[in-house]
Amino acid sequence: MALVNCENITLSYEGRNVISDLTFHLGKGEYLCIVGENGSGKSTLLKGILGFVKPSEGTISFDGIAQNEIGYLPQQTDRQKDFPASVSEIVISGCLNRMGFRPFYSSKEKNLAARNMERLGISSMVQKPYNELSGGQQQRVLLARALCAAESLLVLDEPVTGLDPVVTGELYELIRKLHQEGMTIIMVSHDVSAALKYADLILHLHHNGYFFGTRREYEQSPFCMMLKPGGDEE
Ligand code: ADP
Repeated sequence: MALVNCENITLSYEGRNVISDLTFHLGKGEYLCIVGENGSGKSTLLKGILGFVKPSEGTISFDGIAQNEIGYLPQQTDRQKDFPASVSEIVISGCLNRMGFRPFYSSKEKNLAARNMERLGISSMVQKPYNELSGGQQQRVLLARALCAAESLLVLDEPVTGLDPVVTGELYELIRKLHQEGMTIIMVSHDVSAALKYADLILHLHHNGYFFGTRREYEQSPFCMMLKPGGDEE
């Protein structure tokens, strides 16, 4: 069995199917990019993988990790940008799932948070209020938080939204580094050129079907022609 197994899944809201009969498998250490026009079900699929939306048909299963060991970087909203906490408080809160009913962080969790801040180059900002950071710095903080939860799988929903091109490039390179260190990545992106540059596998969701395959297979498929660089359909 692969690390992530989606078998013939249908995901729906109040009886309306958003994703129908989707099958794909993702091995440990692979990098999957999910693309598709707005409303095609990309975020819904992430919610299915995270267990927030249950498939009405089919199954989503994992081999070697539990669903609560997935690191998740949600789409940033304006409200989250003002979250009143320090960098270190936000990063270490990624350990909450590991703690069960214990009401305090152990030194193991404090070390894990420190190590992940180091990995993402934010150690110098530990005491800073999160809401005073730039957009790119905030995404690094949230990525470090996700890493505290992630045993081997990171799920990222549009991680570069709202960032300028330089900071976008830096964040993509950081995600590439995590992948090279062995992390399995599932990233939703509007940016097909980034998907083709970084991912091993592409899943393109479309209202009447989908493509799943390698980057090279995708480049040669008619699905690749459907999306403009901005992510909208031609
Ligand atoms: P994408 O991420 O590709 O833009 P979404 O997964 O957000 O697409 O949405 C897919 C469809 O599901 C859209 O038509 C959207 O309106 C609908 N949808 C998303 N979330 C909900 C919800 N909580 N309740 C009902 N419909 C929803």
